[in-house]
Amino acid sequence: MAYRALYRVWRPQTFKDMVGQEHITKTLQNAIKEQRFSHAYLFSGPRGTGKTSAAKIMAKAVNCERGLTGEPCNECEACKGITDGSAVDVMEVDAASNRGIDEIRDLREKVKYAPTQVQYKIYIIDEVHMLTTEAFNALLKTLEEPPSHVIFILATTEPHKLPATIISRCQRFDFRRISSKAMAERMKEIVIAEGIQVSEQALHFIARNAEGGMRDALSLLDQALSFGGEEIELSHILSITGSVSGESLAEGALLIEKKDAAGAMELVHGLVQMGKSPEQYLDDLLIYFRDLLLLKTAPNLEEIQSRLEMDPEFKKLGNLFSSEGLFDIIEKLNRFKNEMKWASHPRILLEMALIRLCQGEAPEQRGKESNDIQLLNQRIQSLEKKINEIQSSGGVIQSQEKAAPASRRREVSRQGIQPTVKIPHARVKAVANQVIPAQTKRLISIWPEILGDIRDKNIQVHAWLMAGSPVALSEDGLIIAFKNAIHCETTARDLNRGVIEEAVAGFIHRRVGIIPVMENQWKEILSSLHPQEEGDGQEKQEKREEPEDHVKMAYRLFGEDLIDIKD
Ligand SMILES: [Zn+2]
Repeated sequence: MAYRALYRVWRPQTFKDMVGQEHITKTLQNAIKEQRFSHAYLFSGPRGTGKTSAAKIMAKAVNCERGLTGEPCNECEACKGITDGSAVDVMEVDAASNRGIDEIRDLREKVKYAPTQVQYKIYIIDEVHMLTTEAFNALLKTLEEPPSHVIFILATTEPHKLPATIISRCQRFDFRRISSKAMAERMKEIVIAEGIQVSEQALHFIARNAEGGMRDALSLLDQALSFGGEEIELSHILSITGSVSGESLAEGALLIEKKDAAGAMELVHGLVQMGKSPEQYLDDLLIYFRDLLLLKTAPNLEEIQSRLEMDPEFKKLGNLFSSEGLFDIIEKLNRFKNEMKWASHPRILLEMALIRLCQGEAPEQRGKESNDIQLLNQRIQSLEKKINEIQSSGGVIQSQEKAAPASRRREVSRQGIQPTVKIPHARVKAVANQVIPAQTKRLISIWPEILGDIRDKNIQVHAWLMAGSPVALSEDGLIIAFKNAIHCETTARDLNRGVIEEAVAGFIHRRVGIIPVMENQWKEILSSLHPQEEGDGQEKQEKREEPEDHVKMAYRLFGEDLIDIKD
């Protein structure tokens, strides 16, 4: 006999079999027993929560030859015909593929005729929100005056897309996501009946992973069966879903608690070796810490209980963290998770996230500070400076200062809201003035090798530095430009700079000072080195209005092949 998918075999055939929707099944059963059912129902809720199963059970229960008991007998001709789909009076319409006016017109024509084999004609319209406006209007006319022998059951995952006029004609039932505990219990019944061995941990994991949809849970169990044979362990499920084990999450949490960044880097290395995705790990870790927080604040929540059953270390770990500390970790992880969406090197971002968490209360305040406030501070400082100059020069504003705000404003609009960090402006200018283009070019070409060397020496420094690019090398200085303030500031720390300087010296045979800057600051400094600096204020201001100004300048300094315009 051909293998039949578990979710088909175990599709509920009675209201009693339905898991987690007791609030709906009880009401429907009572309505059937008392013969006061409506002519139109709307079943809404997430996928896999039993909407169409309930619709078919309903169709059988109202047409069962053994009477209106509130459950179908599943043995009479009517019940069997509806179960196997041969009953002509029960129609299942998939609105996703029959969404037009013609189908609904056809339906309206046929609705008039009385059922031939059973008492009620049933129309189950699945994914009803997919219908076109014309089709909705046609359906509405039928719902306004339904023949007494017809029952409509509309099912949808997206009730908000239905016209209010349709919803108001229906008795509405909202199907809930099934709790993971209820799903695990139902799956246990199923595997016992099927004679399959599935570990308790595996069942709980599947239940959590399916996020409230029984069909997804059983499909995952099916996959595991074809993969792992008759005995399913948690490891089988993990390799199918690509998820990481609770152990590696517990390990990550423990390393963060111990502030063991090196250990965390090894953990990431191991995960990548096993083919796990850094995004998934970050996601899972975020949920893990969120659950640790819930363990402290709402320990009786069902999902926390289920986590405790799956992961014996969970409770011990919870005791190691304070609620305050967990809040902080979750907030940071969440920020990295958002950055992950745009990351071209997810592994590096995961490494940085873990390093940051291992550093605990790192000086992140500056990075957090609003860019607007930073810009305002800069402008206040420049205004104060101007006022001082006006006072000391007897009322004449120096032309250079006059031009600066305009160029800064343009930088800001060109760069979006890239933050600025404190950098040694004079030193950066000096290096830019004395840049050695040929050496800069060569350094850029061997940069990947230098990075590799740094990685071998200090994996943390490497993780931060990966986000920067060398832009100018002089006799004694090397400027590295960053897009992100956290990367820039962390690289600028003495200890980190020392590691980089030593590695660079190994390649260029002299020690140069590393100067991390923000990319926008670097561009601004480049444009301030304009050779027409000496010209009169009016002319200079006009020049500065040209958008390509500093880019041209950069070309002159370094040659075209070195400049990578990233607007
Ligand atoms: Zn029956």
